[in-house]
Amino acid sequence: MLSYRHAFHAGNHADVLKHAVLVEVLAYYNQKDKPYWYVDTHAGAGCYGLEGGYAAKNGEFLEGVGRLWDAPPRAGVLQAYLDVVRGFNPGGALALYPGSPAVALECMREGDRMRLFELHSSDEPLLAALFAHETARVQIRREDGFKGLIGLLPPPSRRAVVLMDPPYEVKTDYQVVVSTLAGALKRFATGTYLVWYPLLQRPEARRLPEQLRRLGMENWLQVELTVRRPARDGSGMHGSGLFVVNPPWSLPERLKEALPEMVKALALDEGAGFSLDWAIR
Ligand code: SAM
Repeated sequence: MLSYRHAFHAGNHADVLKHAVLVEVLAYYNQKDKPYWYVDTHAGAGCYGLEGGYAAKNGEFLEGVGRLWDAPPRAGVLQAYLDVVRGFNPGGALALYPGSPAVALECMREGDRMRLFELHSSDEPLLAALFAHETARVQIRREDGFKGLIGLLPPPSRRAVVLMDPPYEVKTDYQVVVSTLAGALKRFATGTYLVWYPLLQRPEARRLPEQLRRLGMENWLQVELTVRRPARDGSGMHGSGLFVVNPPWSLPERLKEALPEMVKALALDEGAGFSLDWAIR
């Protein structure tokens, strides 16, 4: 039984980092004329209202995208990300927040294709309703995204961007992320994979980035954004990270410019900061 609902967290600091990098990666893929697939192994509900319901209850977006909304950023990565969010809020007020599938569809072209997995019995129908008019480009499955991903690879066009964004509500997610990425790379080594992870004090979360690196891929980038000092009692998320396999060559420079601005905008205390590391050959 799944209890995680992304609606409670929509637009928070972790979504800002994840979706800003996603926009950047898809913009890079758009530079080449050949179509690609976007695969989202854990898609969520697709789009979230911020003025009522779950998102308003926690108000996490106020300390995430809300902070950028009021003080427009200078870095290109953040401007491109905010342009996408603004597309969902034509009235000017921040009322809707696009989840990763909606962000991706906004960036994709007519010939590109999207494959989404979402297991939650409430969120999958919301996702299906959101994309009901997009049956040519979008396919949605209420299946396990880890297993589903392997079944899709390699994609017909031999170009794909994959987002793995599990809730990590069960401990096994940490191990399954690693084994799924290893299996996916065996079937399709040239895809771009984005693995999101939370910065938590629990040991399995702390070990995950190192385990991902140990898979031994040639081209990778790891970015982490910390928004607060880790809590003394060990609880809560103090930031998040993304591990990107086969990142665009331009991504490190683009993030170097954006990360200081992100930290400044999203910091909750003086423990805020970032790290950026990569190998691109
Ligand atoms: N990627 C979304 C975004 O950025 O807007 C957020 C996804 S949320 C962090 C994780 C989602 O994965 C939840 O909606 C949850 O119901 C779903 N989920 C959990 N386990 C899953 C699995 N094994 N396969 C597919 N979906 C799963």
